[in-house]
Amino acid sequence: MSKIVIFPQLEIPATLAAGPGPGNTDARVLDRFASAGIADHMQADVLRGMLECKAMLRSVMGTTNIHTFGVAGTGWSGLDAMFSAVMPGDKVVMFVNGTFSGIDGLTVRMKAATAEELAADPLDPKPASVTIVTIPHGESISAEVVDAALAEHKPKWAAMAHSETGSGRVNDIKGFSDACERHDVMGLVDAVSSLGVENFRIDDFSGVHGWASCPQKGICCLPLTYAPVSFTDRYIATLRQTGCRTFVHNPILEARHWGIIDGKDVEKPTYHRTHSAYAIAAFHEALRITLQETVPHRARNYAFHEAALREALTAMGCKVTSNMTSLVVLNLPETLAGREAELVQGCRAEGFGIWPTLSEPVQVRIGILNLLSRRNIIDIVTRFGAALSRMGAEVDMEAVHATLDRHFDRAVAAE
Ligand SMILES: *Cc1c(COP(=O)(O)O)cnc(C)c1O
Repeated sequence: MSKIVIFPQLEIPATLAAGPGPGNTDARVLDRFASAGIADHMQADVLRGMLECKAMLRSVMGTTNIHTFGVAGTGWSGLDAMFSAVMPGDKVVMFVNGTFSGIDGLTVRMKAATAEELAADPLDPKPASVTIVTIPHGESISAEVVDAALAEHKPKWAAMAHSETGSGRVNDIKGFSDACERHDVMGLVDAVSSLGVENFRIDDFSGVHGWASCPQKGICCLPLTYAPVSFTDRYIATLRQTGCRTFVHNPILEARHWGIIDGKDVEKPTYHRTHSAYAIAAFHEALRITLQETVPHRARNYAFHEAALREALTAMGCKVTSNMTSLVVLNLPETLAGREAELVQGCRAEGFGIWPTLSEPVQVRIGILNLLSRRNIIDIVTRFGAALSRMGAEVDMEAVHATLDRHFDRAVAAE
């Protein structure tokens, strides 16, 4: 008999979540999460909440796509649903420029592999029908690269991350969409770290037929809730023809619980899986906040605060190589090169949750998800400057703070 151990209650401290994600959940979201009563997944207000979430999500994503809803879970859950339409033997071109699009590529290779190809290398299959186009870390995927690859391979599907969180690069979504249309390819986009951060409407990109995002980055709704997804009628028609090998993540079946049946909105959803009243209440509030702030305003706010952080880090001697607005990816000052892991570990041990890159080359990532205020940026910069100084870098914090003050005072003067 093994001994039964009961551990003390789990305490988790509040940290400054200044990484690529998850972001700082809004207090209003946590309040709704904790205030919801227990109610089952077919109770009237839970279902009404789901229908309202669906309607608000269409506004947040900028779409009239009927098949717009949330997939329970994290970003990978929504992506798994989106890639479920990729069938063994399907021809796919996947553009990879960092850790996350790399995993998207693995997902696509697992789905497109034939039984033989999967068995030959089950955890890393290399199907003949999938072309992975790799763009170096630190660079964005351009319209030219996409166009050339689609012209050459003429695939059924093409896929890309809108913002690659591994290297902090925004990719050319318009170039991608246009090339997909030109070559009659169905585009699939990982919008996990762009939704709620970048100002875009998915209906402006008619070459893209599937979109998948996540709850915990730009939507600020960590309490494990819903990964937003949206599919065009063409994607759904294709899926209807081929079917796919999943019940739970089949977009047609999952949509039923959100009141989308036979391609139409219906008042009475049907059961697909259990939905949590707490999660629905939290997701509902997160979408309300996004729409109250408005997507364009939030995008401007990210750009403004990212620029402040970037200026301060540059003044400390760091070299920023990213162009996302929720995240800064940087090289340390040359005297500290090679000590990135040590620096990040030291910061994390003090509750300052920054990150290294997860694949080569080693860089430092500092994020500002839902940290859009002068006070938060100063806090991040002060903590990071102290960490650099502790490791022996010469940082003129007075000059750094002066840089920040100028940035924020300019904005106040402009108002
Ligand atoms: C964070 C991220 C993911 C994974 O999301 P999870 O919520 O961890 O499942 C996938 N793609 C991109 C671009 C991301 O930034």
